[in-house]
Amino acid sequence: MDGPLSNAQTRDVEALLHPYTNAVQHRKVGPHVIERGEGVYVFDDSGKRYIEGMAGLWCAGLGFGDSELIDAAKEQMGKLPYYHLFGGKSFEPAIELAEKIKELAPMPVSKVIYQSSGSEANDTQVKLAWYYNNARGKPEKKKIISRVRGYHGVTIVSGSLTGLPYNHKRFDLPVDRILHTGTPHFWREGRDGETEAEFSARLAAELDEMIIREGPDTVAAFIAEPVMGAGGVLVPPADYFPAIQAVLERHDVLCIDDEVICGFGRTGNWFGAETFGMKPTSISMAKQLTAAYAPLSAVAINQDMADAIEAQSGEVGTFGHGFTYGGHPLGCAVGVKTIEIYQRRDIVGHVRRMAPIFRAKLDALAAHPLVGEARASGLMGGLELSPDPAKKAAFCEPGKVGAYAADELLKRGVISRAIGDTLAFCPPMVITEAEIEELFAPVEGALDAAH
Ligand code: PLP
Repeated sequence: MDGPLSNAQTRDVEALLHPYTNAVQHRKVGPHVIERGEGVYVFDDSGKRYIEGMAGLWCAGLGFGDSELIDAAKEQMGKLPYYHLFGGKSFEPAIELAEKIKELAPMPVSKVIYQSSGSEANDTQVKLAWYYNNARGKPEKKKIISRVRGYHGVTIVSGSLTGLPYNHKRFDLPVDRILHTGTPHFWREGRDGETEAEFSARLAAELDEMIIREGPDTVAAFIAEPVMGAGGVLVPPADYFPAIQAVLERHDVLCIDDEVICGFGRTGNWFGAETFGMKPTSISMAKQLTAAYAPLSAVAINQDMADAIEAQSGEVGTFGHGFTYGGHPLGCAVGVKTIEIYQRRDIVGHVRRMAPIFRAKLDALAAHPLVGEARASGLMGGLELSPDPAKKAAFCEPGKVGAYAADELLKRGVISRAIGDTLAFCPPMVITEAEIEELFAPVEGALDAAH
């Protein structure tokens, strides 16, 4: 990636505006063009092989080139490449996938509504919470509480839910009625002498105070990822969600569970809610719902909300929400096959078997002089870098050392992701013990180079 830009790179620079990319930097270095994938590996246009330590964007849980998924997609494309669910139309894969979601969800699910992306799922969640509260005669109950460093997408509403400054800067976000409460990152946010249980109780008390200050009759929902992914792989203490749940129940506030990353096995259970004791009233799913072989997202809602929405049709008629590609037949057919594979190949069991090996690799790196904290849940983890780990110091130029370390790792054939100064890993869930070995083998060298 040094030297003059190739033809493909020049064409890219002239034609594409890249998401989540520094445009000035991009013009200088050009894109990294990835050509194909196989198992847990991808290959660039020079033929160099990389182990995909991030499963793309936390999504390619079954790796690349799975022939069963490819065949399922081909079959659906041949049979019915497009249809929709508007006005009561339907098709078999949409029905079958909704049934599978109902069977696997960590809460009693009444209905499933489809979209194409995680952002659209979370936008839909906010609209459903508002619709529901209007339906049950609580029109003032509309505020949504999210968390600092939470990630929920980039549309106007989901981008407002996201609690990261660069998602707000220059976009005039967040919009009204969206608030942010504290981050459950004990290592960074815990006070001297505080236990994890005390820390969790403090965050729950802060949420309680926020709801009381705003007025419980104005707060509709709380939204959270079980493990914060794009905020830095922040794994909450065990006491955190139970303490939060009690507050939500006390104030009749919905609990929206954003399982866009954690869902379908990533944390060692089907859903992160099971790993962390969340009690959702609705769930957002995407990414590993189709193992990323086709775009699809879904929101699963409980009986109460489904009943309220149905009852509204008696008054307002049509339920005025839906996307042209929400529940695209390709996504649904691939989703059905993906879940069948997860079940048949016992992917959740595999994640549980690999998780201690993955964790041990991260823990071993915690001794490196550049590493402040190693953290993991199932097969997602991170190394938080620090110039002085004993003091939990932060770098004066945030993100620079993290980006350098990720670059060094890339040169050594591993794709990771620098989230500020956290080096994140979230490999395909099918990764083997030997491949975990290969993934982590060059990390110490990359950290030495960044030190
Ligand atoms: N929610 C979570 C937890 C995510 O990690 C993401 C994306 O990374 C989203 C929502 C947004 O999904 P999308 O990029 O498909 O809109």
